[in-house]
Amino acid sequence: MLTNLNNEKVNVQIPKNFDVAVVGAGAAGITLTKELSSLGKNVALIEAGDYEYTDESQEIYIAKTLGDHYFDLDVARLRYFGGTTNHWNGWCRSFEEEDFKRGYLGEEYKWPITIKDIDPFKEKACDILEIPKSFKDSYFKNSKIEKIEFHFSPPVRFRDKYYKDLINDPKVHVFLNANLTDVQYEKRIINSLQLSSYNGIKATVKANEYVFAMGGIENSRYLLWFYKKYKNNFIANDNSLGRYWMEHPHFTLGKAIVDKRKVSEKFYSLSAEAQKNMGILNCGFRIVELDDTSLKGLLREILCVAPTIGKSLAGLAEKNLICGLVFRAAWEQAPHYENRITLDNEKDKFGIPKPILNWQKRTLDRKTVIKSIEVFNQWLLEIDGGRIQLDDWLINEKDYPTNDEIGGYHHMGGTRMHENPELGVVDRNCKVNGSDNLYMAGSSVFTTGGHNNPTLPIVQIALRLANHLVNK
Ligand SMILES: Cc1cc2nc3c(=O)[nH]c(=O)nc-3n(C[C@H](O)[C@H](O)[C@H](O)COP(=O)(O)OP(=O)(O)OC[C@H]3O[C@@H](n4cnc5c(N)ncnc54)[C@H](O)[C@@H]3O)c2cc1C
Repeated sequence: MLTNLNNEKVNVQIPKNFDVAVVGAGAAGITLTKELSSLGKNVALIEAGDYEYTDESQEIYIAKTLGDHYFDLDVARLRYFGGTTNHWNGWCRSFEEEDFKRGYLGEEYKWPITIKDIDPFKEKACDILEIPKSFKDSYFKNSKIEKIEFHFSPPVRFRDKYYKDLINDPKVHVFLNANLTDVQYEKRIINSLQLSSYNGIKATVKANEYVFAMGGIENSRYLLWFYKKYKNNFIANDNSLGRYWMEHPHFTLGKAIVDKRKVSEKFYSLSAEAQKNMGILNCGFRIVELDDTSLKGLLREILCVAPTIGKSLAGLAEKNLICGLVFRAAWEQAPHYENRITLDNEKDKFGIPKPILNWQKRTLDRKTVIKSIEVFNQWLLEIDGGRIQLDDWLINEKDYPTNDEIGGYHHMGGTRMHENPELGVVDRNCKVNGSDNLYMAGSSVFTTGGHNNPTLPIVQIALRLANHLVNK
């Protein structure tokens, strides 16, 4: 069933009491709704935007950023059915075992779950994203370096893949142009949601359980807003609320000339043991081959500064045994208390304060990429596999470049999972501390971010949440 609030003339009364109301129809919300319906639950799927992009919805995503240079927030996410999957790139890889074992770095790194809690949902998540189910990773003997595999979703556009099924599903009621504007509650229990269209038509939706799946900034924004309005009625405290927000810094580290026979993979990272020994986080290297002209230019530069090595490389180039590479990295950012979403004084058209993102890369973030590239460089020398020419900002400890990739548009943390309610917002089952029936879905629940792209684990955790809601 479908109700498009923008097409209604008067306020809408929904008599039905749904099993679950899911707010936000992106990767997390759609996965959750499909799974809940297949397990027999009646679901309201509430989406702020329309089926297509509209300016009136998207402009609600305009918000300020403070700290390091970041993307405009209305470019970094999409606000219509299918959410940001309407323009994601499809890179897929899930968390690694060591991502859940960072407690040695401090309490704030401790997940309340392990890889074993999300692994059972990996195959189904891979089916949803239309990628192979296994990832072939392997270690090099006696080395700190491992080869890792990414898979690429076509990329699945959740709207195109699921919209028709959802509006024709007798167990699902889709609401479009339905902006969450308020909640009615009694102590720890949410009783209903207040929704509004852009032309002021209102609807109230009632359910037994509620899930916010509005993306990695809005989830924090709404909880912060409700905490401000209703204090600790259904949100235990605001100690960590909006905090420990994370991205994956993405930067070019330099160029390299490598022996094709020895360096043939596109993706590498460091072993868990190496990361632990150096007290750093996870870092993935992404290697892009240079064309012939760029390779020749790089060889000329090397001939100027290191003629002996340059001559030997030029000899190998003639035999087509080497190639030139651009060396990029995407890495894990430390969960830092001061990286956070706060509420602005400026409000959106529904009177809800806009979010402000305060994001900075910190000391451990820099240490992670520098140590990781040092280890990779060392490995290259040991196997006589090539030479890396690092970019100036890395060698001379300059600021990060602003004309690079910067980040992955990955919005993690803010309503994080933690056993200790002072250090987290949701419990191991994504339930908001202080509430009996409010849950969070999406990468806002990540305790730490790993170095891989977030959508595959978002889908896994949404499937896990659906199963929890059905079995609890
Ligand atoms: C350019 C780009 C490239 C990317 N590439 C990759 C990639 O290669 N690999 C990867 O893993 N990830 C990638 N991502 C990130 C990926 O898109 C997100 O991880 C994913 O879409 C998050 O899913 P989500 O459901 O949590 O949020 P979203 O997909 O953003 O969905 C949130 C939904 O909530 C709705 N909503 C918001 N506010 C309200 C409200 N008040 N009331 C009702 N509904 C509301 C929104 O309209 C939206 O539909 C990329 C992102 C961008 C921008």
